[in-house]
Amino acid sequence: MGAFAYRYGVLHAESVSVNDIARAVGTPFYLYSTAALEAHYSAYAGAFAGQDAGVCYALKANSNLAVIRTFTRLGSGADVVSVGEMKRALAGGIPAERIVFSGVGKTREELREALEAKIHQINVESIPELEALSAVASSLGVVAPIAIRVNPDVDAKTHAKIATGKKENKFGIDYDQARDIYKLAASLPGIKPVSIAVHIGSQLTDLAPFRAAYERVAALLHQLRADGHDIQRLDLGGGLGITYKNEAPPDLADYAAMVRSITGNLGCRVTLEPGRSLVGNAGILVSRVIYVKQGLHRRFAIVDAAMNDLIRPSLYEAYHGIIPVAEPEAGAALEPFDVVGPVCESGDTFAVQRPLPPLADDDLVAFLSAGAYGAAMSSTYNTRPLIPEVLVNGDRFAVIRPRPTVEEMLAAERVPDWL
Ligand SMILES: *Cc1c(COP(=O)(O)O)cnc(C)c1O
Repeated sequence: MGAFAYRYGVLHAESVSVNDIARAVGTPFYLYSTAALEAHYSAYAGAFAGQDAGVCYALKANSNLAVIRTFTRLGSGADVVSVGEMKRALAGGIPAERIVFSGVGKTREELREALEAKIHQINVESIPELEALSAVASSLGVVAPIAIRVNPDVDAKTHAKIATGKKENKFGIDYDQARDIYKLAASLPGIKPVSIAVHIGSQLTDLAPFRAAYERVAALLHQLRADGHDIQRLDLGGGLGITYKNEAPPDLADYAAMVRSITGNLGCRVTLEPGRSLVGNAGILVSRVIYVKQGLHRRFAIVDAAMNDLIRPSLYEAYHGIIPVAEPEAGAALEPFDVVGPVCESGDTFAVQRPLPPLADDDLVAFLSAGAYGAAMSSTYNTRPLIPEVLVNGDRFAVIRPRPTVEEMLAAERVPDWL
């Protein structure tokens, strides 16, 4: 979290005081650091330097246009999971030939738009999708370069809701069916199998599941080549974890060395699709304590951010570090707080019995590691406007998504004339 640190007793993002931003935009808001985004991307590029490899940023982790643009400028491609995200990637300046389209339920309309945009590759996850793509491509008179996403039946050892590579998960095609489906794909008009794709889950903190999945992909590659397919690319997915609390995810250098050891002499171009590991620790969520409520049994810090702004704690029992924006005095005694939002759900709880320095009404707090799956998963539940996103660069900051007014939210709805 080098980009977010106390200076002169106040939390700063790079050279900008979080207090100053809070005064300018109001709370709550997301705050991202350009330096951190760039450092995380460069770490990938550096670790894979010398391999025939490229990064396609998984947009769903944080799809703000300014974040995309930051990665575009570093040469990133994009992994998208809807046509909406494809349009975002293009609007963010990512060239079509660097866009990969993943997802289990792409509609025919989405497939058509992807083919018309001439994106790099479509990762197919079922036989009906393959047949639909063949029909759409034929009707357009084009050939779709595809990967089949295989489900390697590997336990990613992560939270059940973000594990995607076990045979009971909805993702990908069963490993043991893959050869038959490549054969089918090659026989269909408008389809050219060029790659194998795999993505086994998110927030992986161990190399072993990656290694197991990639070894299965390499074995499949040999079989497919023996079957006469011309496969020259491998799409190895994302999923590398980050430190939220005390997790120790693998080093990028070790990850890259493992990839090289398995794919180095296969003659394939490798695509990595990191999301969380590029943006997670490049962002925080800043919120204000509305009230400290001292009950008979618990002390609650009721903050102005809620589960609709950051759903990870209620959805995944996820941990986010929480620190005051004003640096606590050295040796300040910690007291247990339940940190909760204002939404009418008991699940609107960020932390239970969390030891924190003394907090009072109006204090600012920062939720750490909030750059991934934060703003991107937010909603307007309880008619809470989407909160602003702010990007810092050195001593500058800019609002990269403003807070809508409630009036603007209401204006988007229609009451039928019979009411
Ligand atoms: C979500 C997703 C990713 C990114 O996962 P992270 O854990 O954020 O790195 C990559 N590839 C595919 C296909 C995905 O669905």
